[in-house]
Amino acid sequence: MNDLDIIIIGAGASGLMAAREMSKAGLKVQILEARNRIGGRIFTLKGEQSVQLELGAEFMHGHLPVTLQLIKEAGLKYSKMEGKTFQFKNGELKKDAEFIEDWSPFIRKLNQLDNDMSIRQFLDEYFAEEKYEELRNSVKSFVEGYDAADTNYASAFALREEWSNEGEWTNFRIINGHSSVMEFLANDFKEAGGIINLDTIVKEIIWKHRQVEVVTADGKTYESQQILITVPVSVLRANPNSKAGIAFNPEIPLKIEASRLIGFGSVIKILLQFREPFWNSREFENGKYKNFSFIFSDAPIPTWWSQHPQPSSLLTGWLAGPQAEKLKDVSEDKILKMGISSLSEIFKIEKDGITSYLIDSHLVNWNSDPFTLGAYAYATVNTLQGRKVLNEPVDKTLYFGGEALYEGAEMGTVEAALASGKNVARRIIEDH
Ligand SMILES: Cc1cc2nc3c(=O)[nH]c(=O)nc-3n(C[C@H](O)[C@H](O)[C@H](O)COP(=O)(O)OP(=O)(O)OC[C@H]3O[C@@H](n4cnc5c(N)ncnc54)[C@H](O)[C@@H]3O)c2cc1C
Repeated sequence: MNDLDIIIIGAGASGLMAAREMSKAGLKVQILEARNRIGGRIFTLKGEQSVQLELGAEFMHGHLPVTLQLIKEAGLKYSKMEGKTFQFKNGELKKDAEFIEDWSPFIRKLNQLDNDMSIRQFLDEYFAEEKYEELRNSVKSFVEGYDAADTNYASAFALREEWSNEGEWTNFRIINGHSSVMEFLANDFKEAGGIINLDTIVKEIIWKHRQVEVVTADGKTYESQQILITVPVSVLRANPNSKAGIAFNPEIPLKIEASRLIGFGSVIKILLQFREPFWNSREFENGKYKNFSFIFSDAPIPTWWSQHPQPSSLLTGWLAGPQAEKLKDVSEDKILKMGISSLSEIFKIEKDGITSYLIDSHLVNWNSDPFTLGAYAYATVNTLQGRKVLNEPVDKTLYFGGEALYEGAEMGTVEAALASGKNVARRIIEDH
């Protein structure tokens, strides 16, 4: 008989945070992680010229009490992102003036809304006239790009709350990369006696009151009194026969139904490492792109950012929401070519010109990653209800965590994952 108190599924931000809290409280904890690395949707690689390549989470923004406390404890540093923001539309480049036309009347109306509905429904109901076409397109691009969400499902109330915090949208980056926070958590956990098993895909959870048996893809079994499941909601509700899908025995239909009430978007991230930051040169388009931070465009890969103010020749492309979902099964090579064409369109130079500067590239299509199956959670009209159900443990034995279950304003973030891990750990410690 195994003497483990608790097994955690997933060594992402949420699982690691919970593991550290519980091992500090004296519980015997083991993490089972499907990948050959910790961090989940946090994945920092060291690139050329010692640049940190963030293939997953990159920015810190908003109200981040748990993240900032951890960064402080770990002695890590972060830097503010600066630079000019551009908009490129219909072949024209504009320096960021007013981003979204008719934004003020739109927000005014949204603030008067009494009953929640999808943001698409809201636009159709109140801003259907032709003169608002630009507004409708801009809101759609924004919701898809930033929240990785589908406007047909994204909650108008949740977006209203998100947009009311607009003043806090300054972006920061962790200087040694987000993975350094994960390493800090994992080291602390291991020092307290915790165990992390990598390359361990959980396939079945057989449970009864305070007794859990976990079966993994390689046929091994692990036993504990309780279990914390921190896989993304997209994986939780996936077919148990899929690569990361988990069968529960006995089944937990109410929890799986609840997980379906939470929106989960799609995202593709492309990192292009160039020989030099050609966009910063005075000769290039009269230096108008010098020190740009973000470009939002209508190109196939619409959003691009630099590492400014850090000296770097890396550009990152971002496609999210339903447009990214459509490319779920498209080859990386083809998507990379879309990235090059997009930059060629925006910078008005031949594709060959772009590739002549290119020295390395990385692409992650998170939708086709079996252990993520998408991007991150967003609120639909029914998400509050789904989250409430999932945040209630089953028989003091099955507990759920992860960014999607966080109840604050920073949905879909690392902060959400850490805070959820911390909260559920507290609950488990109390119940123990
Ligand atoms: C491309 C991208 C960019 C992002 N950018 C930002 C950003 O700039 N700022 C920000 O704050 N947030 C960002 N996020 C969101 C942030 O990364 C996540 O909210 C957070 O990392 C989620 O942590 P988690 O622990 O909840 O889930 P995960 O990190 O997904 O951890 C779950 C773990 O479970 C494992 N797992 C899955 N199935 C199984 C199984 N069957 N058996 C065992 N293990 C399993 C997975 O491998 C994974 O390690 C981004 C996300 C993506 C994808």
